[in-house]
Amino acid sequence: MRLVLIGPPGAGKGTQAAILSAELGIPHLSTGELFRTHVAHHTPLGRQAKEYLDAGALVPDRITNDMVRERLAEPDAQAGFLLDGFPRNVTQADVLAELLAADGHVLDAALEFDVPDDVVVTRLLSRGRPDDAEEVIRHRQQVYRSQTAPLLTHYADLLRTIHAVGSVEEITERVLEALKVIARAPK
Ligand code: ADP
Repeated sequence: MRLVLIGPPGAGKGTQAAILSAELGIPHLSTGELFRTHVAHHTPLGRQAKEYLDAGALVPDRITNDMVRERLAEPDAQAGFLLDGFPRNVTQADVLAELLAADGHVLDAALEFDVPDDVVVTRLLSRGRPDDAEEVIRHRQQVYRSQTAPLLTHYADLLRTIHAVGSVEEITERVLEALKVIARAPK
């Protein structure tokens, strides 16, 4: 299965993606994690990305798309993947569609994690990542609304909205339920 996960910062995409990756036997590809690893290892890419991560801004598409292109070309991603944090704008979605089309593939679903703002702020403040300061969180929410939320319309035909308030187990169940529906849907 080829899936993209969409939702505001703190919606729990990363938590669910890790569980779903094991359930579905496909790798969890998180662009945020990839960037943080590059930053931690002081790679050239990490040096380029750091200022954007610290500010809660999107890393420029050119850098992000190149990184995703390389990651998707690796053997473990050939049979499917869960993309967490990519695409984050319509340009990135177009690049993803082209990458997949080149191999004759398409996305199976876009999973939207729907969760109210006040819930996510509480979650993020308790997480304590460097980009989880209140001001940076607010900026990331703004970026989500202006750049990423348009993907919900872009992916209207593929969209499955998951009510993402509840226990981790409950939310996993809802996702698996939504995916069963997709597996059964006629092509
Ligand atoms: P969250 O979903 O909690 O905001 P992520 O780990 O997905 O956290 O992303 C952290 C940061 O990594 C973003 O604020 C941004 O700077 C950068 N980033 C991640 N994915 C992308 C992307 N697709 N395009 C540009 N920047 C990205």
